[in-house]
Amino acid sequence: MSALFPVHIALQMPAHSGVGHLLTYAAGSPLPPGTLVRVPLGRREMLGVVWDSPGDAQALPEGTQLRAVASVLEGITPLPDAWRRLVAFAARYYQRSIGEIAMAALPPQLRELSSEQLARRLKPAKVPKTAAAAQAVAAPLPLVALSAEQQQVVEQIAAGKAGERPFLLYGSTGSGKTEVYLRCVQTALDADPTAQALVMVPEINLTPQLEARFIERFAPQYGAGAVVSMHSGMTGPQRLKSWLAAHTGAARIVLGTRMAVFASLPGLKVIVVDEEHDASYKQQEGARYSARDLAIWRARAQGAQIILGSATPSFESWHASRPPSEDDPQGGRYLRLHMPSRIGAAALPKVRLVDMTQQPKRAVFSPPLMAAITERVQRGEQSLVLLNRRGFAPVLYCADCEWKSDCPHCSAHQVFHKGDRTLRCHHCGFTQRVPVACPSCGNPDILPLGKGTEQLEEELARLLRNVQRPDHEPARVARIDADTTKAKGALEEQLAQMHAGDIDVLVGTQMVAKGHDFRRITLVAAVQPDNALFSNDYRASERLFCLLMQAAGRAGRDADYLLANGSRAEMWIQTRDPQHAVFTALRSHDYPAFAAQQLQERADAGMPPFAYQALVRADARTQEDAQAFLRAASQAARDAQLPGLDDVFLFPPIPMTIQRVANVERAQMLLESLDRTALQRFLHAWQPLLHQLRAQPEHRPLVRWLVDVDPLAI
Ligand code: ADP
Ligand code: ZN
Ligand code: ZN
Repeated sequence: MSALFPVHIALQMPAHSGVGHLLTYAAGSPLPPGTLVRVPLGRREMLGVVWDSPGDAQALPEGTQLRAVASVLEGITPLPDAWRRLVAFAARYYQRSIGEIAMAALPPQLRELSSEQLARRLKPAKVPKTAAAAQAVAAPLPLVALSAEQQQVVEQIAAGKAGERPFLLYGSTGSGKTEVYLRCVQTALDADPTAQALVMVPEINLTPQLEARFIERFAPQYGAGAVVSMHSGMTGPQRLKSWLAAHTGAARIVLGTRMAVFASLPGLKVIVVDEEHDASYKQQEGARYSARDLAIWRARAQGAQIILGSATPSFESWHASRPPSEDDPQGGRYLRLHMPSRIGAAALPKVRLVDMTQQPKRAVFSPPLMAAITERVQRGEQSLVLLNRRGFAPVLYCADCEWKSDCPHCSAHQVFHKGDRTLRCHHCGFTQRVPVACPSCGNPDILPLGKGTEQLEEELARLLRNVQRPDHEPARVARIDADTTKAKGALEEQLAQMHAGDIDVLVGTQMVAKGHDFRRITLVAAVQPDNALFSNDYRASERLFCLLMQAAGRAGRDADYLLANGSRAEMWIQTRDPQHAVFTALRSHDYPAFAAQQLQERADAGMPPFAYQALVRADARTQEDAQAFLRAASQAARDAQLPGLDDVFLFPPIPMTIQRVANVERAQMLLESLDRTALQRFLHAWQPLLHQLRAQPEHRPLVRWLVDVDPLAI
């Protein structure tokens, strides 16, 4: 009988199985940790990662029957230890199984393709580099001279020790943060032929622009294949290709969205997290990880440098980078670097608040704002109108019987989309034709209530119909939101039109407010930002402030353009509450004052970042069943006197803000602690109890439960 080598394998287990652990298999030869294998599970064969070996075969209990590893993915070197440590940490911290995190971190095609198919993909590309291809990466562009602020920041980062302190690059919109990232990456790559860099952006739509800048900078020196992207908009083969390039070290720079934090990067030396405050870094399904937080952990564990960049840092990062003071001689863990000025001495836009209580009733665009937009069009400048709500109107309404276009499956309205005459629920996707009359009383006069981007676009086109551009052509109004960009390539095309100056007024959602380096926008307007403040989420003000500040950052980025046009940049805000702290802080572009005031409130109320939170959510057919599970979970923790319980406060279960989605009732329970370790200890001990509870007959009606550590919305 041949020798048996038992190995622990991480596999994707169904979440409800409750198997959070590794499964043991037998291999014909010792397999190093990190080896990719295929193993049988039930009647299927699955991808797995060798995690470790439990010792020698003799140590196994007598009569243990192990299933054999089916095959080893030859040709792919084992995943590095650093990668396994990252996955293990993420699994532990976010209360998931190692296998679940590990499999989600690998490109889907690794799971889907057979070993033979993979072997074919792994063959090196046969086409040798042609002269033409070499030409395409031709001569390096001359470097721009750094501004004094950029220079200082680059030097400070270069002087920092890798893996020691994260840098928070607090730089105004248009201060040239990207150039700083480029220089820091350059320094790291030049210093070590195996060095790799990870650069993260919050949204897919920001990757092409960044990719172009990185390729332009690095392809001449390191080859066109040195820069790869990783995001969910890529096809399976593309993702596999990028992943392999990063894993083998062929790619020196990986650009991507949150998923890229799990890339296998054996030579990782520097990480950049651009727009680090952005909520998109938090995964909202499955394992609810924060890619920013994991990046910080990873940098330290792997001895890499990390730079978090933002014009409006998250309060967590702002607080963590506080300078030492008299009563806080230590200061924060991060080092804060500041670039207050815009490149080329462009001024930040002047913020103009329009008090909508003093404007004509029902006007979507106040007369002074409309005059300002008109003037821009006549000068050939661009304007951006921001409204964070797509569709034509958020609800249809019957004035006779008060019928509203409620979604039959959710506690939410169906949104009226005029273009295709549909009512659509943005939560469950349920879509209907718009009724010709009130379904309840037959009144033919049902009215749209409130405004969405579709309506703004229509309204603007109407208001500007007689306005001419300098070339005497009519004004061109366009819209970018999730509805206009569904088709592949549509967003790129629309953004290209904007950059080319083929659009005069662009209406859009937050999609266009962030990151883009538009050169000819001189006016940005937020027409109805107040809605965001009615939310009972304690982060609502922070989020709105960031969004408006980012949006303002799209205006007046090119000082020469402003000068040539004799124009200046403006940010217009229409509000019924001009004295609100968000707006007054915005007017003075005073992020530090706003952050200080908000952080003081959080400190007084014992909220993050001064406390740590986790949410447990339960979904069931009835709200009562959902809450019953959470109550039982809470009781079970007390009965078992779980470790950490003394330091963790469990709030009573409550319905979620949007209580019902797709006929499922949702409830949540908040956990809070001043001590992160205690909260972690508690969650860890609690998890098996939750699995046990779920299996009990009285909790059978439960659809699912989940834990969200460091939740963004509560
Ligand atoms: P941020 O990310 O801080 O908003 P960007 O990195 O997009 O700003 O830079 C704003 C603009 O300034 C870009 O068009 C960029 O090419 C340009 N830029 C950056 N640094 C310099 C520099 N040192 N000299 C000239 N132009 C620069
Ligand atoms: Zn009616
Ligand atoms: Zn719905």
